[in-house]
Amino acid sequence: MKITHDFHVHTHYSICGQDSATVEHYVATAKKLGLKKIGFSDHFGDGNIPGARGFYRAHPFEHNAQLKAELAKVNEPGLQLYFGCETEYHTPRREVAITEAEAEKFDFIVVPNSHTHMIMPKEYITNYDKHVEFMVQAYEDILNSKVSRYITAMAHQFDVCLMPFDPKILIEMIPDDTFKRLFDKTAEKNIAFEINVAYSKNMTPQQIADDCHMRMFSLAKDYGCKFTFGSDSHDNKQHDFYPNADIIANLLGLKEDDLAPICR
Ligand SMILES: [Zn+2]
Ligand SMILES: [Zn+2]
Repeated sequence: MKITHDFHVHTHYSICGQDSATVEHYVATAKKLGLKKIGFSDHFGDGNIPGARGFYRAHPFEHNAQLKAELAKVNEPGLQLYFGCETEYHTPRREVAITEAEAEKFDFIVVPNSHTHMIMPKEYITNYDKHVEFMVQAYEDILNSKVSRYITAMAHQFDVCLMPFDPKILIEMIPDDTFKRLFDKTAEKNIAFEINVAYSKNMTPQQIADDCHMRMFSLAKDYGCKFTFGSDSHDNKQHDFYPNADIIANLLGLKEDDLAPICR
């Protein structure tokens, strides 16, 4: 199937987003790629998260709300824009780093369990068992969160970034049983499973088919999860690989009904 949405893009309002990541750029790209829905997911979270303090202090709500005002001015027939956020896991509180009052202000929310470069004790980074254990715990805590009913999708599950090793090592270590436990509950909580296409940036279709992500995605489907797709774009180039979303959807045999309602 053709994927006609992207529910994970960052703009220049995220401090890791480039100046070229503008609303105009995404609107033009959506037209080029035939997308009908764009979900803007700039970073947003509690400014007191230890280890990620400066990063989230730079994104108070008033800052992100500038994007909301910009989106309101866009009038593009056939294209729907959503004001969302990618929030964070708060390690000491074992909670999602957003209040209910803040969550109410967004059209959708994605939460990763894998920003371990910011939120996990540094000594776990190359201790693969501890690293996996941390992410499994974070995943379960997010599902059990007081704000879980506001969560649209789990973002780039177990896909760590900025690590001194191939992140796939960690995904390969996780047994099917663990995925079953997590994905059963994800489906039960009505939280979607995001397929963050960024991992496939430099892959051929055959490499995508053979890659360890497909085992994780297939299990999510088998255990009843609905899906969203996202590019995790932070600049004006990261959409070039987005047709990989269609390849992944076809490999999984996804149908319209397998997508989360918000992106159908
Ligand atoms: Zn992320
Ligand atoms: Zn992101």
